[in-house]
Amino acid sequence: MDFHPREPRNLGGGCINTAVQLRDGDQRWFVKLNQAARLPMFEAEALGLHALAAANAIRVPLPLCTGAAQGQSYIVMEYIALGAGSGNAAARAGEQLAQLHRQQAETFGWRRDNTIGSTRQPNDRDPDWIRFWREQRLGFQLAEAARNGLGNRLQQLGEKLLEACPALLDHQPRPSLLHGDLWGGNLGYDEQGRPVIYDPATYYGDREAEIAMTELFGGFGADFYAAYNNAWPLDPGYAVRKTLYNLYHILNHANMFGGGYAGQAQRMMEQLLGELGL
Ligand code: ADP
Repeated sequence: MDFHPREPRNLGGGCINTAVQLRDGDQRWFVKLNQAARLPMFEAEALGLHALAAANAIRVPLPLCTGAAQGQSYIVMEYIALGAGSGNAAARAGEQLAQLHRQQAETFGWRRDNTIGSTRQPNDRDPDWIRFWREQRLGFQLAEAARNGLGNRLQQLGEKLLEACPALLDHQPRPSLLHGDLWGGNLGYDEQGRPVIYDPATYYGDREAEIAMTELFGGFGADFYAAYNNAWPLDPGYAVRKTLYNLYHILNHANMFGGGYAGQAQRMMEQLLGELGL
């Protein structure tokens, strides 16, 4: 079908990219733009959206294409008018997220690396969750932090914490398909009130890592958690693992934005080591 967009409408920046709406009559597309060198990030995002869509659990915008032109890279996807949702919308989101997490694989990781915020997220496949979390999540961010000159104390605590991972991750999760970057800014509701998730950093991991992140910047509300737990209760001991999982995102924020996040990461590490009496 022909598509002749009129004047693109600039939707302003998301966290990382510039967002534009292209429209021709009733047809609308959502486009994100970045520097040309960022094309792999958009290619991974498109694959992630396809993987989430294939699980048939929760709505995601379907990607159309990715590419680079005139010095910029782009991803084009279905435009979905997003709202706040009402009534039982949050409960539906909890239920559908549990359904997404029932999509499982044999190993942790994913078919390729992707991006969390603007940082590379390694996803080498590994059947051992503790090793995966220690090396490809916390270890990777701590190495980035060292490169970024983030303090001795952070590195000392980090080393201790990596050693303590087996004691802290004392449950046996199965590799669940995760959105991977599910904070409140990446969940919305379409015009029919159906939950929509977007801007993923997809991989197969412990579903608790996903739930932990939903709690990191404000939380998704009591109805969401009640519905998730009703569909698939979390394992005992989640409260401690939650801090270990959210440490990854706080370290990433320290690497992206500096400021108070390095101090917050240190306090989280001290708390976790305190759990073990270290
Ligand atoms: P970034 O990668 O820069 O963080 P996002 O993918 O989070 O950008 O998109 C920025 C904002 O645009 C979102 O918070 C959401 O409100 C809106 N948005 C995201 N995807 C779509 C879409 N497919 N259709 C319409 N609006 C969208």
